[in-house]
Amino acid sequence: MLWRDPNTHSMDLWSRKLRAWEIEEVCILNDIVESITLSPGEDRLLWSRSGKPYTCKDGRLSFLNDREVSDQRWSFIWSIKVPPKVLIFFWKFGNGKLPTKYLLQKRIQNLSVNLWCPFCQSSWETHVHLLWNCPRIRIMWAHIFDWWGLTSSFYKMRIENIWEWHKLFSNSILQECWKTALSASLWSFWLCRNQLVFENISIRDSDLLFLIKLRALKWCEAFNICKNRESRSVDGESGWPDTVEDSLQ
Ligand SMILES: [Zn+2]
Repeated sequence: MLWRDPNTHSMDLWSRKLRAWEIEEVCILNDIVESITLSPGEDRLLWSRSGKPYTCKDGRLSFLNDREVSDQRWSFIWSIKVPPKVLIFFWKFGNGKLPTKYLLQKRIQNLSVNLWCPFCQSSWETHVHLLWNCPRIRIMWAHIFDWWGLTSSFYKMRIENIWEWHKLFSNSILQECWKTALSASLWSFWLCRNQLVFENISIRDSDLLFLIKLRALKWCEAFNICKNRESRSVDGESGWPDTVEDSLQ
């Protein structure tokens, strides 16, 4: 049944009597509708951004503008020299799609799961907590930054800007090595987490750090990022940093 207000003509079709705040909103809506001027001629579909008929070029430009940050992520991720499964993992991490307990609980109704971080048991397991803010992982990151001679930069870094961390180095080869090391770190943290959650196996910090360094070195060698150990320069600037390799001795 429709309710008709006998005193007004502009808002006379509602399924019930309007409340005071609703009348206010309807008045605003009426003002907007009345401000629209119809122009003569045929109706046409126009692209709201340009006010002209849509073209593929408009669509692409619009997509690129909207996705500026996303594009930065994509170009960063696809430039990393690591196995494809690690690239996909990194992409999921960057887009908040990692199947953490918190995300699963949000997506699956009636899922009964302990949301606590498996490492510290003191915060919910979100992707940012698990791989950056968790006290255990912070200690690991501090070691990793120290390993690359970036100790002073560590506390200024924000995980949201991980796409720009390679700019800490001016040397392009070091940038590539560092991106691989970042991937090895995140990937190793995630595998460590999975072992703990699914197999109840705990990896010692020292072993985890060794695995990260080993993965990073092997991936860099496999993808020919750095020169081989025999031919690298003495100062390490043109290849894998001395401190990195020495730490594996
Ligand atoms: Zn934690």
